[in-house]
Amino acid sequence: MKAKYSIIVPMYNEEEVIGHTYAKLKEVMDGYGEPYELVFVNDGSKDQTVEIVDAICQNDVNVRLVNFSRNFGHQIAITAGMDYAQGEAIIIIDADLQDPPEVMLEMIGKWKEGYEVVYGKRLKRKGESAFKKITAMMFYRTMRSLTNFDIPMDTGDFRLIDRKVCDVLRGLKEKNRFVRGLVSWVGFRQTMVEYVREERFAGETKYPLKKMISFAVDGITSFSYKPLKIATYIGFTLSASSFVYLLVVLCQRLFTSTTQPGWTTIVAINLLFNGIILMLLGLIGEYIGRIYDESKNRPLYIVREARGFDEEKEQEEKLKEKEREYVH
Ligand code: UDP
Ligand code: MG
Repeated sequence: MKAKYSIIVPMYNEEEVIGHTYAKLKEVMDGYGEPYELVFVNDGSKDQTVEIVDAICQNDVNVRLVNFSRNFGHQIAITAGMDYAQGEAIIIIDADLQDPPEVMLEMIGKWKEGYEVVYGKRLKRKGESAFKKITAMMFYRTMRSLTNFDIPMDTGDFRLIDRKVCDVLRGLKEKNRFVRGLVSWVGFRQTMVEYVREERFAGETKYPLKKMISFAVDGITSFSYKPLKIATYIGFTLSASSFVYLLVVLCQRLFTSTTQPGWTTIVAINLLFNGIILMLLGLIGEYIGRIYDESKNRPLYIVREARGFDEEKEQEEKLKEKEREYVH
């Protein structure tokens, strides 16, 4: 039977929790009683995650597994999930049970009322460090002030999207994907359900500071050109103030007996300008790098194998693989 709901679960080194996550998702969806599929996307885990899910997949006809050839990142894993999902409503949920599976039913309820995007809004975040909460807050506020459209505050990727929305998103081929931004960008009838974000069931966060920063940079640069304008503002302010400063020094020289000692100011000004120029070059580099990414036109991800899909789909995969071999 064709699944009505597809639940996408991106996984990176989640061996400690994935068994529980599966059991919980199954319990909730079986209880609901409509056909569903669980699409687990293994994002290049280095632990036993894929073996565990593979075993589950063999015993449960509702489970699919998409196995990446390496780690491509959380946002890409979600994107792959959307490519493989066959349901009419698609739900994205983290593998660590921080997003309570029961909330999915509320989302489905809203979907049945006619909404096409139902996102989860975090009322509280349990068991996360103060640092994470503060940086997340700063990120959402910055994002809001820099972009021209409304990305809802305090939402993650835990959300339901309609088949229509999924198809539109699949058509957006940009490489630096910030899925929640894209979902806001496409529009449609959107609403939210509120929930309390639980503690991680087990294991460590897979978003160390480094990934968080690149995630934030992706989010901001793929939706806003405003950072580029910083260059103009800073440049203008600085040339104006150095002009005033020069006037002051000149007047001092001409009309008073004090003269400014030379090299201190020169070094200070030099450092200031060099720093600013480097910073702005880096910023412009970010955008140029993104143009480069887009122009390479590489696939977003590479699938090593896909399990549990219809035979047709697997056949298709094999064909694609052959094609790839042929190209190389
Ligand atoms: N994840 C992924 N690829 C990565 C990092 C994370 O697929 O490179 C998955 C991870 O397994 C989890 C989800 O993305 O299902 C969110 O990650 P995590 O819970 O570590 O982030 P946090 O909740 O701490 O922000
Ligand atoms: Mg988490």
